[in-house]
Amino acid sequence: VTQAVEALRQRLAQVQDLNAVMMGLEWDHQVIMPPRGAAGRAEALATLQTIAHERFAGDDTGRALDAAAAELGDADPESLEAAIVRVARRDWEKARRVPGDLKADLARAGTIGYEAWTLARADSDWSLFEPHLARMLELKRRYVGCFEADCAYDVLLDDYEEGTTTAEVSRVFAELKAGLLPLIRDVATREPIDPSPLRGEFGLAAQEALARRVVERFGFDATGWRMDTAVHPFAINLNLGDVRITTRYETTDFVTSLFSALHETGHGLYEAGSDPRLERTPLVGGVSLGLHESQSRMWENIVGRSRPFSAWLLPQLREAFPGQLDDVDLDAYWRAVNAVQPSLIRVEADEITYSLHVIMRFELEQDMIEGRLALSDVPEAWNAKVREYLGIEVPSDAEGALQDVHWATGAIGYFPTYALGNVMSAQIWEAARRDLPGVEDGFERGEFAPLREWLTEHVYRFGRTYTPRETLEGAVGGPLDATPYLRYLGDKVASVYGAGQAA
Ligand code: ZN
Repeated sequence: VTQAVEALRQRLAQVQDLNAVMMGLEWDHQVIMPPRGAAGRAEALATLQTIAHERFAGDDTGRALDAAAAELGDADPESLEAAIVRVARRDWEKARRVPGDLKADLARAGTIGYEAWTLARADSDWSLFEPHLARMLELKRRYVGCFEADCAYDVLLDDYEEGTTTAEVSRVFAELKAGLLPLIRDVATREPIDPSPLRGEFGLAAQEALARRVVERFGFDATGWRMDTAVHPFAINLNLGDVRITTRYETTDFVTSLFSALHETGHGLYEAGSDPRLERTPLVGGVSLGLHESQSRMWENIVGRSRPFSAWLLPQLREAFPGQLDDVDLDAYWRAVNAVQPSLIRVEADEITYSLHVIMRFELEQDMIEGRLALSDVPEAWNAKVREYLGIEVPSDAEGALQDVHWATGAIGYFPTYALGNVMSAQIWEAARRDLPGVEDGFERGEFAPLREWLTEHVYRFGRTYTPRETLEGAVGGPLDATPYLRYLGDKVASVYGAGQAA
């Protein structure tokens, strides 16, 4: 009786398999492939991409969807089959909207733009990048034209955070900005935190062994996970039993590599936490970049920068790096990993200033796509926002408007998800703590399973079954709200910098 549903599932499973193979090739590219393999690999991936697109976006899939929907009738809309049909139809309709030649133009412009951006950043010369950004925006406007939308930026945002509107993000970011700006000004009046506890020489083998021990306590399982090094750390999974995370190590800085491993483990836990019944369906994996980032930030910051976690970690640091941290007490270590310092580079920003880096990009992107900002004026507009929000001067475009790769590759509308992830992480954390009072006390003993299991139960297991909005509301009981994140940061500043010590 479920012949049509089974036929649809078979077709969608093949598409998932092709995606898994592509991810394996992508991982290989970034982790172990020799550099001269790049051109051939790009061809192989393009071929697989074409096959996967034909298999999925063709009329056959439309007929298979119709047949499956007819067969299901008014069967339970909460069933797995109904969810598969619902999500696959949305993906299918979206995949068919954009003509193949526009997709190819966008992919090519991204590749060429990436090369141009690399050179422009090396020379800190915006004018080398500007024509490529102009071309990308022209293509993006054509892309937007493939959809019915009143607001161009809504279309771009939808690729990363389905169903979330520019108006909603603007509302949340306005609240965030209104809370963060005074917080940063407040910190500026405090005694700066001594960063020396984190300085020294830290052996790479010891760093790697330590990172592995810590992420294993979070849920990294050597029978289903790998950890390797990559220039730009990332996490992917090929299937629920094959999660790949990466980090990178520097001898003078154990914090960046360790916390990047915690971050990527958060992404991996979300991916690996899908209900096994979702395997080889379009429902498997994270539902949006914002929710994904909420989980990487959860494990990196809310857990990893907490005082109980620091208390558990510090003896292990002393053991891993003999003699390096003997004189550093818990308070000094914990304050040092939570120091707030406005800085130029987004990826190096602390928890308090990070979201402002994102908000200014969100504002600039809207001005660019709507044509309100001439591209030659972008660096100046950038520098003005850094001055206004962070109180610092940008000395060069390499440290300003050219620092991120996103615009070069066409990832416009992506940045907001980083700050939305922060906002959601605190909402989810408050909900978890309501259900699990004192859960953070267990961190001091290296106990992370209660939090991981709560997150699996309330977020991870659903994969893409529900929309990002439904997923968040199901977990926290309400819509996107910046208040919990501002509360979290306010408490953090008060405890790290000492309440009432403002000059
Ligand atoms: Zn991330």
